[in-house]
Amino acid sequence: MHDAGLVAQFKSAARLDADYYRMIDKQQRTYFAFGSSTAKERPEIDRNDLRRILLDSLPVGSVRWGQRPQRIDPGGTLVFREHTEKGYDLVVGCEGTWSKTRDYVTDVKPHFAGVEYTKLTIRDAGNTASDLVKLVNNGNLFAHSEGQFLSAQQLGDDSLYIGRSTTTSQDRSQRKEDEIRDPVARKRAILDEMQGWSAQLQRSIEKAEVEGEPKDLYVLPPDHRWTHVRGVTLIGDAAHVMTPFAGEGVNTALDDARRLAAVIIGAVGSGGVPGLSGYDDSPGWVRSRTRGLSAECPDTPIHRPLPRATS
Ligand SMILES: Cc1cc2nc3c(=O)[nH]c(=O)nc-3n(C[C@H](O)[C@H](O)[C@H](O)COP(=O)(O)OP(=O)(O)OC[C@H]3O[C@@H](n4cnc5c(N)ncnc54)[C@H](O)[C@@H]3O)c2cc1C
Repeated sequence: MHDAGLVAQFKSAARLDADYYRMIDKQQRTYFAFGSSTAKERPEIDRNDLRRILLDSLPVGSVRWGQRPQRIDPGGTLVFREHTEKGYDLVVGCEGTWSKTRDYVTDVKPHFAGVEYTKLTIRDAGNTASDLVKLVNNGNLFAHSEGQFLSAQQLGDDSLYIGRSTTTSQDRSQRKEDEIRDPVARKRAILDEMQGWSAQLQRSIEKAEVEGEPKDLYVLPPDHRWTHVRGVTLIGDAAHVMTPFAGEGVNTALDDARRLAAVIIGAVGSGGVPGLSGYDDSPGWVRSRTRGLSAECPDTPIHRPLPRATS
């Protein structure tokens, strides 16, 4: 946000007291807790606000909505459903997990991480779930036991974002249709799986509304790279989709954008076409600690117990 000159806008929408983290098990015994509502070191911002701030900063007309390239052809030609476009110096694929641009630079495809994820929301949480709001303490609560994971995050509109995941060997094609499409059946199935969890954590699901259908999480290998292809590159999940358990997907995507922007600005300033030296071949690009933590499921807390530091 510094590089984009948007710090003031960021601060006006960010929650500076959101850096509290507590990791617990299904019976609410604490593994560890850190951060405080006064440290202000890891601010959070709701996605809609971040998106608005970034979009508002662009010259009008920079974004053409509703355009969905189907593939990239040799020479960087963008193939849409009904027309093609060419003549671009650089095409940056930033279309997430199922990027079509990625197919142009590599044959590697994301694989099922063995984790299913359901999003839920508790609205007006200060009134409807005040005990959980207290536990979340303006920040984040993570609960995990035996391959099940529940997170609760305070959002700026007084709602709590609840994430619920389970490890599973079955992808969506092998699950019951009503548990995918019917939010009531989905909630019932989650509560059935949460037998043995504390009454408070079960209540948090009872109070929450299921948002959309459950998602199978897909990942790219944490060391995924590609051989540099002139005129085409990738940022964000298109380059390195990972599971959300490290909470770093958005940070990593923004960092890609920042690094790539520096390379483009450097190349344009010297009158050239970006060769992507310093981006595609950057040693920091892999960021293997984050991706190793997040993308390799056997290493994430959802799959293995952590040592308990406090109780
Ligand atoms: C359930 C879940 C929870 C998560 N929680 C967190 C978290 O707490 N913290 C965190 O940091 N990260 C989290 N992440 C990861 C984070 O959402 C991603 O890392 C981040 O959104 C990546 O940004 P992106 O712009 O690369 O891709 P995306 O956010 O996926 O955006 C890609 C965009 O491209 C569009 N698109 C797709 N195909 C085309 C096409 N052919 N043409 C044009 N447009 C197209 C899509 O509609 C979308 O708008 C989570 C991910 C999931 C799945």
